[in-house]
Amino acid sequence: MPYDKQLIVHFGELWLRGRNRGHYIKALKRNIYEQLSGIPFKLEDKYDRLVLTPGKKAGMAAMKERISKVFGISAYEEACSTVPDPDHISKAAIYLLKESGVKSVKVKAHRAYKGFKFNSVDITKRLCKDLEHVGIVPTLEGYEKELFISVMKDSALIFTDRFKGSGGLPTGTSGRCVVLLSGGIDSPVAAWYAMKRGLTPVYLHVHALASNDDAKSSKIHKIVDILSEYSPKPRCYYVPSHIFQMAALKSGRYELIMIKGFMLRLAEKVAEKEGAGAIVTGESLGQVASQTLPNIAAEEDGISIPVLRPLIGFDKEEITKIAMSIGTYGESIKPYKDACSINAKNPVTNSSMDSFKRIAKEINLDGAVKRSLKEALAEDMP
Ligand code: ATP
Ligand code: MG
Repeated sequence: MPYDKQLIVHFGELWLRGRNRGHYIKALKRNIYEQLSGIPFKLEDKYDRLVLTPGKKAGMAAMKERISKVFGISAYEEACSTVPDPDHISKAAIYLLKESGVKSVKVKAHRAYKGFKFNSVDITKRLCKDLEHVGIVPTLEGYEKELFISVMKDSALIFTDRFKGSGGLPTGTSGRCVVLLSGGIDSPVAAWYAMKRGLTPVYLHVHALASNDDAKSSKIHKIVDILSEYSPKPRCYYVPSHIFQMAALKSGRYELIMIKGFMLRLAEKVAEKEGAGAIVTGESLGQVASQTLPNIAAEEDGISIPVLRPLIGFDKEEITKIAMSIGTYGESIKPYKDACSINAKNPVTNSSMDSFKRIAKEINLDGAVKRSLKEALAEDMP
């Protein structure tokens, strides 16, 4: 007889949150429903975990794929579910092991509900005997897999594989942020880390294309689409760079710093509108000539909300690896005319705050921000 499979979801770090625990779990459940939308399933609270039972037409592989992208989940398992009784547990375990062709196991039984007459030692003893009977070797050394048995009041769960979740906190529990998203490798990874710590992203991209519609059909839209698997239905602002480019013609070697200042000011205004409490960038100290401490200090001068730089301590190689694992790398390396690359000719590396302020005044940076925002296009992702 085939057994029903369920997904068992563990939330790790949420346990640490004391009185706010309920709030975090509620957010986690909301995100699970959102990220698994279109897949029929039932969700139940069981002790320190959530149990997801797939509906008739739900594919377990698709469920696992989506669950692996929900922040706040430390680990998950695909389990066989049966009646909490030693006889049924043995039958289900044998079914599961035969199905996966496993020939030797280390049995690990745990009883979350203590009201039964049998305890975890009884279950283990009985199970080992039954396994030997069908030619599966229970052993403490040299086993192929661990076999976990978790006994609860109304069911017993049996599984062999535990998968690592994305970890972090449920998206939305830390508020909102504006992510400065470029066409490069870094900023999508920075967005992922911001989401991982519970921030809901609003994206802002400055483009050098002929129209907002061109930007909307560019690879930026695709990158946002990939990132929306981690936090669904984000809003993305596309802002043209031509007003800034015209204004900044005479800023020479300061042009790259000025466009960064321009972007941060745009982000601050969008944050105000969107109720976001921070700006996120993909900068990493010293990664390129322009990302020096004096430049970072100058460009964010006068910005009133925190500018978060999740990648500050990362090497490019590490960032690239994460970009590959979260799925953005392929789009990030496609050719794209980035607004920043136009200004990248021999930039200053040691810009002074005074010079930045003086040039910002000369080119009327605030005016350029205001006029550019009037030309912005906000797209809500489906
Ligand atoms: P990335 O790979 O994210 O493009 P990078 O190493 O190329 O980063 P820069 O081009 O100096 O670095 O950009 C630093 C940060 O400034 C980016 O990570 C991003 O947050 C922001 N940024 C750069 N270009 C744009 C843009 N066109 N629109 C919005 N934000 C941008
Ligand atoms: Mg870039």
